[in-house]
Amino acid sequence: MNKKNSDLSPIFVIHKHHASTLHYDLRLQEGEVLKSWAIPKGPSTDPGIKRLAIQVPDHELSYATFEGIIKEGYGAGPVLLWDKGTFEIVDSPHSLSECLEKGKVGLVFHGEKLHGNYLLVRIRLQTPHSWLFFKTHDEHARSDYIITDSEPYSVLSGKAIEELRRK
Ligand code: MN
Repeated sequence: MNKKNSDLSPIFVIHKHHASTLHYDLRLQEGEVLKSWAIPKGPSTDPGIKRLAIQVPDHELSYATFEGIIKEGYGAGPVLLWDKGTFEIVDSPHSLSECLEKGKVGLVFHGEKLHGNYLLVRIRLQTPHSWLFFKTHDEHARSDYIITDSEPYSVLSGKAIEELRRK
């Protein structure tokens, strides 16, 4: 199987979402759903920085292209499409769900912003559904760069999240 064939590669997106607090939502396609995690501080390219990621309910695959304003209710606020691309699972013959069941999944991202190897590892905390999401060492790792600060804009519209509020 040619893993570079985009027809075979599942997609990922990262939404930047300013609800009651600003956070980032990592979404990984499995079939018709997007497995999802809220990452309060967003992704880092520094292997020394491990970010808390709280698993949240699956979203429909169609949500992967969403950018705009959630008008009311839980999550009300602007949602910006911060990154998109495809991913692969590394070092495992298992599906994404099977890896998640085991509590650890190695990922390779082919995004517009995120590149290379990351790990998602479940941790046991009082906060349920807690995972750590972090970069692992490869040629894309950078410890001198804060990607969320340096690359704040939408990959869809080029807008900043503050611009989504003004309509
Ligand atoms: Mn969110």
